[in-house]
Amino acid sequence: MANQSKAPIYIAFSWILWPALFAVGLTGAGLAFRTSAPLLWFNVVYLTIVAAIAFLERVMPYEQQWLHRDGETLNDIAHTLLNKGGVQIVAAIGASAPIAIATVARPIFSSPAHVWPDAWPIGLQVVMGLIVAELGLYIAHRAAHETLSLWRFHALHHSVERLWVVNTGRFHLVDSVVKIGLSQLPLYLLGAPLPVFLWIGAVTAFIGLLTHCNIDVRTRPLDLIFSTPRLHRWHHSRVLAEGNTNYGENLVLWDQIFGTYFNPDRRPPADIGISGRIADGFLAQLLQPFSASGFRQILGRKADVDSLPPPKLGRQRQD
Ligand SMILES: [Zn+2]
Ligand SMILES: [Zn+2]
Repeated sequence: MANQSKAPIYIAFSWILWPALFAVGLTGAGLAFRTSAPLLWFNVVYLTIVAAIAFLERVMPYEQQWLHRDGETLNDIAHTLLNKGGVQIVAAIGASAPIAIATVARPIFSSPAHVWPDAWPIGLQVVMGLIVAELGLYIAHRAAHETLSLWRFHALHHSVERLWVVNTGRFHLVDSVVKIGLSQLPLYLLGAPLPVFLWIGAVTAFIGLLTHCNIDVRTRPLDLIFSTPRLHRWHHSRVLAEGNTNYGENLVLWDQIFGTYFNPDRRPPADIGISGRIADGFLAQLLQPFSASGFRQILGRKADVDSLPPPKLGRQRQD
């Protein structure tokens, strides 16, 4: 809200919170990885950060209207659990599936060309891994916005009308599988070691939580490097020119390179969503993209669309 009316301590917190939450999350992940039950402890850290963000959203919200209930909370949680916890059925508590998949799949794939710089310090290897993975994430995310066959799955994520920590993981299962596949496969092929996968999973988990947070954080210089809440709020705009930007999941390097980086000096819109309609209920939402009528609903087209002139695809796909 208006910066001028805020107390200095509030302003200070709004600058510190994003890097602090990210750093605490990564430190916690580092400690968790050293225990004999890394996934369990990672989930404890993850849920602690979720709780901290949920508390801060109440104390210093960015958009007051995003505090109101939208009736989607249970669906949001169900999609999150299915996507990110599906692999660990019992400990299905968000964000750890990429780590679990990497733990299981990494030994199965033997690298055909061992080109990964194992000798580099682990921090540098993780940065390189993030850049490689991010290219796959960028391609998957941009394709999801620019092709109807993929938008039908990604629209679920953009159907939210409020951004908050709980709908961070609201992705259709197909959307997630495409993203995980395109981001992790190159790392397997290059022969990246398991710790790189674990750290990428941790970075993705915490940056992901923060991108949707409804906390009044200030991230100006960090916006140039990371996918921050400010950039992601633009990404959820209903206006096509604003929403089809900032595809980066962790880093915005590829947005910068391919010209889709967008961060004008004004406030991102509070009115977010899509022009189509998403089904009510978790199962209906999962099945909706697979039927012709469901697809038409997602696009916001009328039932007799086949007899109409071609739709304005840009408007249909905007977010
Ligand atoms: Zn998107
Ligand atoms: Zn989002």
